[in-house]
Amino acid sequence: MAEKRDYYEVLGLSKDASQAEIKKAYRKLSKKYHPDLNKEPGADEKFKEVTEAYEVLSDDQKKAAYDAYGHAGANGGFGGGTGGWSDFGSGSYSYSGSGAGFEDIFEQFFGGGAGFGGFGGGRTVDPNAPRQGDDLQYTIDLEFEEVVKGVTKTIRYKREQDCHVCSGSGAKPGSSVKTCPTCHGRGQVQQERNTPLGRVMTQGVCPNCHGQGQVIEEPCTNCQGSGRETVNHSVEVTIPAGVDDGQRMRVQGQGNAGLNGGPAGDLYVVFRVKASKIFRRNGANIEFELPINFAQAALGDEVEIPTVHGKVSMKIPAGTQSGRTFRLKGKGLPQLNAKTNGDQNVTVKVITPKNMNDAQKQAMRDFAQASGDNVSEEEENFFDKIKNAFKD
Ligand SMILES: [Zn+2]
Ligand SMILES: [Zn+2]
Repeated sequence: MAEKRDYYEVLGLSKDASQAEIKKAYRKLSKKYHPDLNKEPGADEKFKEVTEAYEVLSDDQKKAAYDAYGHAGANGGFGGGTGGWSDFGSGSYSYSGSGAGFEDIFEQFFGGGAGFGGFGGGRTVDPNAPRQGDDLQYTIDLEFEEVVKGVTKTIRYKREQDCHVCSGSGAKPGSSVKTCPTCHGRGQVQQERNTPLGRVMTQGVCPNCHGQGQVIEEPCTNCQGSGRETVNHSVEVTIPAGVDDGQRMRVQGQGNAGLNGGPAGDLYVVFRVKASKIFRRNGANIEFELPINFAQAALGDEVEIPTVHGKVSMKIPAGTQSGRTFRLKGKGLPQLNAKTNGDQNVTVKVITPKNMNDAQKQAMRDFAQASGDNVSEEEENFFDKIKNAFKD
């Protein structure tokens, strides 16, 4: 591993830089190297380096430790890299470092023997650190036919982004942003707290600036000082063929915009697919029922079958029984993430005729007679026989 660079050097600052200067340098550099904005090789590493330097130098206590002990003080000595301070809240923290002055530092900043209990307040999140925007979800209705071919849709929704009037600062253009007088720009204040283990000094988020380190003199009228606004946003999404009801698709970077130069969240598009009036879907396969008359079943026929890809011709062989299923290979829906289609399964259903005219009835009797059956004039029995003849 390469030797770590000096944090001040990373941010291009001198050792006596103020918090405001540190913040400014960080904003500039994190934007410059942010992996979403800078695709050059090494930018990612630079971004991490800059973020790490900022996390230490923007924190009063870490900065003091770093100034006194260098990297060992800021990182090694506190056991948890840049997130070292958070470890105090876990309750199971153990120190096993190589004696980089941890004891000394601990004594120096926490008044010795106060115990870790004082840090039980959980993680403190730097409000100025880059953060990813929230993910959003959008439900879209699709026609069955759209799913067969795939479709491109323009989705319109509301999302949060930096206010366009104040560019996210929250200050009315022309008015100034002042260093917070309560915390002098640190964003954090020392608080003395009584705990069962005694009186301890803890760090807390500054109540005046809520950790920003800055206060706005006159808030932006567009965003009321929040620096954010909700805008109508539209994005074109290409929905692949074969998606099913309830499935969802991630559209990267189309959620809420990030904070402090962080990346945007993602948009999840959830599909609600309407059922077809003709086809019953079973995954990528189509189940289709075909009514035929008993002459077609007995003698065979060639029929036109509707499929999602258009009509196809299908042969019914002579002597087909009701309930038999024929597979039309590749005539189902496209399979998601594959180049193949499902099948269409055609199940024939032989329809027994009702309300036949006299000529039809006579033809039927002739048929039965030719088959060697003694046909009675009682129609019910006769048709029961016909029915039975076509049962599986
Ligand atoms: Zn604004
Ligand atoms: Zn403050």
